Amino acid sequence: MKHQQLLVANWKMNGSAELVDSISATLAGITFTGLDVVICPPFTLLHRFAEQRNFALGAQNVSQHSAGAYTGEISAAQLLEANATYVIIGHSERRTLNAETDELIAAKLKAATEAGLTPILCVGETLEQRQQEKTEQVIARQLDAVYASQPELLAKSVIAYEPIWAIGTGESASPEQAQAIHAFIRDHLAQLDSAVASKIKLLYGGSVNGENCSALFAQPDINGALVGGASLKAAEFAQICSSAQE
Ligand code: PEP
Repeated sequence: MKHQQLLVANWKMNGSAELVDSISATLAGITFTGLDVVICPPFTLLHRFAEQRNFALGAQNVSQHSAGAYTGEISAAQLLEANATYVIIGHSERRTLNAETDELIAAKLKAATEAGLTPILCVGETLEQRQQEKTEQVIARQLDAVYASQPELLAKSVIAYEPIWAIGTGESASPEQAQAIHAFIRDHLAQLDSAVASKIKLLYGGSVNGENCSALFAQPDINGALVGGASLKAAEFAQICSSAQE
């Protein structure tokens, strides 16, 4: 099945009003064909983007709670009000630095989907797990935790395979390595729900840049990318957008 491609920019704790303007101006010059683009800036910049634009907005985190005494948290409804329609959940930086567990991540997916946001669920292994040949086991566990919490959650999500050893390191997975895990993810999902497996978008993330993106996008089970560092450079991100449409 030919999927509409999806490119997601994860600005992490980077960016400014100036970057909002330069990315918006650069992307405004591109007509996206067969491609959806989502920019996930820090929360405070969501409102800086114009209402009229040729890409969607997303957040990088969401609370599992809907409201209340949760200082420093932000709810799915608040994100929607700030024009976000997507949210990254379970990024490895949050799993590691904020001790987010599979159970918490499932609860966040539930809160996001109930409010109408599309979650981008990140999964991936450490270098050590890869060397110990535990990659598939780790990813299956991360997916199964979400499915066990509520089977319909995966149907409403996008999945980003992000090998932790490739994030921010300049060392992307090879197209073959990425394709092999994407195929594994699709097969694993097919065992849970075949309709979901064929429809779901699988993104690759980890040191994607203007040079390596075309070969990654040519893989049959890769439907786009989650881009960190290279999404902060307007010209390079535009080039990645062009490659995703070829
Ligand atoms: C990310 O933050 O999800 C990511 C993939 O970062 P980078 O592209 O910089 O490796």
